[in-house]
Amino acid sequence: EPQVARDDVIKGTDDDAIISKLSAVNLGYLDDPFVKHFVKRPSRRPPLINRGSYLRTRSLDTFTEQFIKTSVITQSASTHSPTTTATTTTPAAVAGIKKQIVSLGCGSDTRYFKFKANGLSVHKYFEIDFPESTAKKAAVIKKNKAFTDIIGDPDLKLGLGGTEIYSKDYCLLSGDLREFTESIVPKLKAQGFDTSLPTLFLSECVLIYIQPGDSDAIVNWVGTNMDASLFVVYEQINPADAFGAMMLRNLRARQIELPGIHAYPSLKSQEERFTSRGWQAAQAVNMNRLHESLSEQEMKRISSLEIFDEVEEWQLLADHYCVAWAYQAKPQQSEPHRAQ
Ligand code: SAM
Repeated sequence: EPQVARDDVIKGTDDDAIISKLSAVNLGYLDDPFVKHFVKRPSRRPPLINRGSYLRTRSLDTFTEQFIKTSVITQSASTHSPTTTATTTTPAAVAGIKKQIVSLGCGSDTRYFKFKANGLSVHKYFEIDFPESTAKKAAVIKKNKAFTDIIGDPDLKLGLGGTEIYSKDYCLLSGDLREFTESIVPKLKAQGFDTSLPTLFLSECVLIYIQPGDSDAIVNWVGTNMDASLFVVYEQINPADAFGAMMLRNLRARQIELPGIHAYPSLKSQEERFTSRGWQAAQAVNMNRLHESLSEQEMKRISSLEIFDEVEEWQLLADHYCVAWAYQAKPQQSEPHRAQ
């Protein structure tokens, strides 16, 4: 099967993700007024999927929030508890620190808009996906005041045939993550990406679709070239047990392959994908752990949203998804950057 056909299937995985996210928003699991603009035909997903989308979004939101609110990278990683938020530092206390976020394979993700609408922003927020995907996203953003108001830059420009957006703090860039070092890095740098600034790299259900050699190159480049970075990955694990085999069969029926799952099939190997490449610390937890770490109050809230009695099925499913995070900071980088 030609690579172009395979790539088309991978681009389509975003449609599925955003429909599921909207289902979770519409039922009250998540609060995000931006998601609906990316979905033409909303559809209600089963409780199992809604809970999964909710936890996935919430856990990456928590990392993002802590990264923005905390003054040092190592601190934000080490004090991290996946579903609670840091209360020790306030945004005002660290407002002077310049930071960057890079979302690899952003698809229709709305995190930049949701956070900035809530007063949480960074110096530069970069998003990257295939040109076909970014063209759709750029069109939605450009035609909706809800989005352009949040970007808040009268000089916002579209580029490369409408596949890219450049503005003061938000850049949507098109490219192939399999050519990260050769083509994505120069594009980032041309838009003001600065390797000396503390940076959060987000990869939500993305690296799993590319060959491990290519995702390793990204992890390597970030670990070697950034002064201080936090890398957060969310993806499937455990392909070998009965549920894992079924999951892969179901995906294969839709022509979706997960090359990454064979290279990083476990929590331990997810941690080692970073620590073996010189990252200072890494930790991976599965969705059951994330689920258990919800507060009693939050658990009560989501339990009231719809009937949820697929508990055993949920535990099996949740055992096959994980969030892994790693950080590295160069030793001389002890003082955080401050804006003039
Ligand atoms: N991160 C988003 C989220 O969680 O909502 C989208 C996830 S979607 C399952 C996977 C995304 O990764 C798709 O938008 C796809 O186009 C993108 N992607 C996969 N391989 C890519 C590559 N080689 N280069 C650029 N983008 C890629």
